[in-house]
Amino acid sequence: MASNLLPKKPPPPTIKMKPAAEQTLVLIKPDGIERGLVGEIIGRFEKVGLQLIAAKLVNVSPDLAYRHYDAGEEWFQNVGKKVQQFYREHGLDKGEAFAKMEPREIGKLVQKWNVDYLTAGPVLAMVWRGPHAIGIVRKIVGPTYPDQAPPGTIRGDFAHESVLDANSQQRSVHNLIHASDSPASAKLEIELWFHRKEII
Ligand code: ATP
Ligand code: MG
Repeated sequence: MASNLLPKKPPPPTIKMKPAAEQTLVLIKPDGIERGLVGEIIGRFEKVGLQLIAAKLVNVSPDLAYRHYDAGEEWFQNVGKKVQQFYREHGLDKGEAFAKMEPREIGKLVQKWNVDYLTAGPVLAMVWRGPHAIGIVRKIVGPTYPDQAPPGTIRGDFAHESVLDANSQQRSVHNLIHASDSPASAKLEIELWFHRKEII
């Protein structure tokens, strides 16, 4: 009886918004193919519930590789700054090499190394789709430098290379895989690697 006297609770709000599905470009780089990690890598994205909507094995031309790693001035600056920060934090490179270079120049050098890396053998290009796909794929892939990537991530579980290993041989960090890092770069990269009709 007493319950009739209680004020009526308002109904819970209905949330109509649903996260929009995103698409993201993933490349298994030549070291990933050579080491037979394709099944393992694809399995990780499938198990988390993402959907594979395009895939092809590509012998990458230098032109395509340059265009892929030419995301504009900001990319050169960012990569260059990351390299300088890495050397500073580790107390390396006092006055020579990277410390005296402009970040943009370093970015250009890394771009050249990346082109050599991406054209060294076949690459598996894919588009994965799902809510928050861009962030989820980056989380599964892990940080750029495998020696800093935590266990459980692709780069942390299957690679170990540091910037120093790579730079001492004047080449890119071999980190098995590429994944788009923002909606804008995902759009540009998917258009660069796939024709519309190749995407299911
Ligand atoms: P990716 O774009 O390949 O997914 P990422 O977004 O984690 O990698 P970026 O900063 O975009 O990292 O760098 C692109 C690629 O350049 C890296 O995957 C790596 O192979 C190479 N790279 C980045 N920094 C260095 C460096 N200091 N020395 C050598 N190679 C580097
Ligand atoms: Mg990147």
